[in-house]
Amino acid sequence: MACWQCGAEIDAAELFCPTCETLQPPDPKTDHFARLGVERRFAQDVTAITKAHRKLQRRLHPDRFVNRGDRVRMLALQHATSLNDAARILRDPLKRADYLLSLAGREMDAEEGTLKLDPAFLMEVFELREAIGELGGTDAHVERGRLERDIAARYEARLAELAEGLDAEGERSPAELDGLAQLAAQLRYLRNILDDLQELE
Ligand SMILES: [Zn+2]
Repeated sequence: MACWQCGAEIDAAELFCPTCETLQPPDPKTDHFARLGVERRFAQDVTAITKAHRKLQRRLHPDRFVNRGDRVRMLALQHATSLNDAARILRDPLKRADYLLSLAGREMDAEEGTLKLDPAFLMEVFELREAIGELGGTDAHVERGRLERDIAARYEARLAELAEGLDAEGERSPAELDGLAQLAAQLRYLRNILDDLQELE
């Protein structure tokens, strides 16, 4: 890749041209993990992601480029946007899982309409929704707390299974990817139920 300013040959991953120090455009082929300089896997230290994000944000903050011309200002803004997207997605375990699945060829947003949830899971959801609907009376808060812990445990168990599958060594078979997509979809459901339950407080 050539520097857009001075024409020097540079690595596509360079943020600044080593020759003229001009800010380069974000590389569209860079994934969110590489953008933040963290390993591409599910298991992440969220504090490290936040730190890497802040550090790059400071280096690439549009305010630092106010006197550097329109093109550079525009590039700084593009970098800031890409960095914020990367951090937002990688900090959230469900978004991070969906993103890893998309890198493996499973676009979770596109699958939402076609992915068939396991009937046993749909029954589980039905029963949980029913239990929430029946909450009431003097000890409702006790029952609500119990339900919340129950759903959180189901959520954590699936999340651990998904994490293990996503970070397993080697290529994932289509059947394995189906299983992981199923887990990711179930996690979205459980999180929605938990959110609804917490709103009842
Ligand atoms: Zn240059």
